Amino acid sequence: MAAKIKIATTSLAGCFGCHMSFLDIDERLLKLADIVEFDRSPLTDIEHCGPCDIGLIEGGVCNSENVHVLREFRSHCKILVAVGACAINGGLPALRNFFKLEDCLLEAYQDGIGVDNPQIPNDPELPLLLDKVRPVHEIVKIDYFMPGCPPSADVFWTYLNALIEGRDPNLPYELVHYD
Ligand code: SF4
Repeated sequence: MAAKIKIATTSLAGCFGCHMSFLDIDERLLKLADIVEFDRSPLTDIEHCGPCDIGLIEGGVCNSENVHVLREFRSHCKILVAVGACAINGGLPALRNFFKLEDCLLEAYQDGIGVDNPQIPNDPELPLLLDKVRPVHEIVKIDYFMPGCPPSADVFWTYLNALIEGRDPNLPYELVHYD
């Protein structure tokens, strides 16, 4: 029997919506389980991924921990896919890029509406924020970009099947129009 393809996923600065959409492939997960083995993913309890064939990465890069996790993930995955708008271009978290980091912190923790007990977190254990939220391709080499916010379950299914079969993914128009 052929060795199973190993797939891992991780989330950086995202909302986990892309992962939820992946799980929406529903009963097709059972078909997938016949041919793939999941490393780090929502389906397993693995914290650090080992060598994998395909890595799916959700979310952009907003702090030093994201950079570390992304570099480690890249080093373990033969094929790395940026999944969704946040990974591809920073997405919603990148809206803070229109402002200075200092102003964002002041608004969130000191001057903003509803803040009682103003205090900007400065515990040394907290990862340092980057000046801007970055798309993942600015930090590591990305092999493929899966569009959407989130990509639909059918996009995940189409994309993964192509990669598993060794083809470049080619999404039909009905899967990539958003009107
Ligand atoms: Fe959430 Fe959309 Fe970002 Fe995916 S692309 S993590 S669904 S905001």
